[in-house]
Amino acid sequence: MHASRSAEPYTPTAQTEEDVVTSPSRPHVRRNASPYLFGGEAAAVAQVLESGQYGHSDVTEEFERRVADFLGVPEVVAVVSGTAALHLALLAAGAGPGDEVIVPSMTFCATVQAILAAGAIPVFVDVAPATLCVTDQLVTDAVTERTRAVLPVLFGGRAIDFSRIRTELTARGVVIVEDAAHAFGSRHGARKVGATGDLSCFSFGPIKNLTCGQGGAVIPRTPQEAETIRLLRTLGIRQSQADRIRSTNYSVDRIGQRYTMSALNAAIGLAQLSRFEEIEAARPQLWRTYRDALAGTDGVALVDLDIEHTVPFNCVVRVPNREAVFADMQARGIGVGVHYPPNHLQQAFAAWHRPLPVTEQVAEEIMSLPFHPAMTEQDVSHVVDALRKAVTR
Ligand SMILES: *Cc1c(COP(=O)(O)O)cnc(C)c1O
Repeated sequence: MHASRSAEPYTPTAQTEEDVVTSPSRPHVRRNASPYLFGGEAAAVAQVLESGQYGHSDVTEEFERRVADFLGVPEVVAVVSGTAALHLALLAAGAGPGDEVIVPSMTFCATVQAILAAGAIPVFVDVAPATLCVTDQLVTDAVTERTRAVLPVLFGGRAIDFSRIRTELTARGVVIVEDAAHAFGSRHGARKVGATGDLSCFSFGPIKNLTCGQGGAVIPRTPQEAETIRLLRTLGIRQSQADRIRSTNYSVDRIGQRYTMSALNAAIGLAQLSRFEEIEAARPQLWRTYRDALAGTDGVALVDLDIEHTVPFNCVVRVPNREAVFADMQARGIGVGVHYPPNHLQQAFAAWHRPLPVTEQVAEEIMSLPFHPAMTEQDVSHVVDALRKAVTR
């Protein structure tokens, strides 16, 4: 949401399912989320295409350095996706077969798939209804002798304070692996999320605060951990690409994945990062506009994001009679969504089901409003007017 900008945002033209219902005067409200490009991305990708170096390259390494500078950390390991970042962070934390990983059910299924990819056991926990985040008490109650990691999800971009239980967790050998997929740019106190000393994972997927098209990153805690994660993301091969092509041999040191980030994706990320201040201003402003417009709306509760510290990823409300309200909004051409259907109720994760009363209750109430930086104040008013009508019907 910009008062002024020097380049028009890229507006995707592809038709999505949501476009079936049209709201022609307000194209932005039809999308729940959307990439937001500044204009330098296409040229940056073309430059990489012309260079002929499409894999992990010095462009990827420049992206890593620039993200590290932005966060204020010594090292960043760029990977192909947020899911890959979580998988490698869990492996680096030593989570494997027989180990339990505490995770909220209220997250994108990728979080759970990463735990299962590491061979560990997801232990689903509830969340606080006001924030959709885990609390230190919910985590403490779920810790057992077999807990190897806690995987908090920074829902909507909100940092979570574990200062009261960190010492206890460390003493028990439990690692905090943060799913910060929503939280690029957010702060925990004075520090950026990613610079708090936990093993943090970001996603740079299509609709995340910063996009590479596809991508992710792990923020390692030590140089040794960085080295391990680099080895894991490059098929366990130690030599750099440059050294490998000049040699008749290479050594595979351990089991690993092809999780490298392409220079094409890194180039998009670099272009995005160079103008991230605009996103950092626009997203909180958009969320506040929603908050103010929704104030005093009966029956609508806004999920709180600690907006003073957060670059919000989304805007989630809880409404009674969600199925009807959702259908009504869709029929009005407004791209509402649900983030997320709970994981402990998914068929693929049935083996790890446990009753989670708060999650089950809020899962029937949550609805995500259209939220992306191209939206204007008028778009927000349009959405909120429609929401008022939908809830009072
Ligand atoms: C997007 C997302 C992921 C996965 O990131 P990808 O880059 O899509 O693999 C993980 N967790 C949460 C909460 C997400 O929103």
